[in-house]
Amino acid sequence: MDQMPDRNALAERYSQVRSTIPEGVTLVAVSKTRSVQEIQALYDLGHRDFGENYPQELRDKQPLLPTDIRWHFIGKLQRNKVKYIAPFVHLVHAVDSAELLVELEKRAAAEQRALNVLLQLHVAQESSKHGMDEQMLRQVLLEASKGAWPHIRIRGLMGMATLTDQETIIRSEFQRVAKLRAELLSEGLVDESTFTHLSMGMSSDVEIALGSGSTLVRIGTAIFGDRKPQATRD
Ligand SMILES: *Cc1c(COP(=O)(O)O)cnc(C)c1O
Repeated sequence: MDQMPDRNALAERYSQVRSTIPEGVTLVAVSKTRSVQEIQALYDLGHRDFGENYPQELRDKQPLLPTDIRWHFIGKLQRNKVKYIAPFVHLVHAVDSAELLVELEKRAAAEQRALNVLLQLHVAQESSKHGMDEQMLRQVLLEASKGAWPHIRIRGLMGMATLTDQETIIRSEFQRVAKLRAELLSEGLVDESTFTHLSMGMSSDVEIALGSGSTLVRIGTAIFGDRKPQATRD
């Protein structure tokens, strides 16, 4: 993580990406593996929403960067790592079990803060992608509505599409996520004023995600450039 940023190239890629994101959609700049200098350079261009998916990496970077950054945790979160990010995280995108919510509730209560989360719906063909099925997700929302996790605010859904070049597959997966949100609203299981978000889309499939109603896009390489291959971690 010692790369120094090429500020001109970064500014160019950033404004190109920005120009494709409609008003009202939050652009989360995915900064996993990027140095604090690279993150600071994008911050200096006015950006405030950053996404990470390794808890210890985020824990280590956060104190070195401005406190008004909104940190999004976008990856698979293991229960024993919640403690690293609970004090400051802005939104946890990929909650995939009730057990994880129990731990998030415990840590949020200890920090005396409310935690915003999204529930991840499993829509991709790969079993390596995480997420709940619809039945489990409804069960979690039902328990939440009965007050099971008072420090947790469930703000919407997240979905990751299959890694494929077949647009029709990606589109139908994103539309399943959007359709479920609409159903949950019309059934009154969630409230329109709080259940606002659909986190869908990364560099490779962002256009399709936006066309399917995404409100939060998670973009890494299109802003920061290609990532170096990573050793296995976490
Ligand atoms: C890395 C990552 C992204 C960003 O991917 P890019 O291809 O760099 O845009 C988005 N979402 C998640 C969950 C990621 O882990």
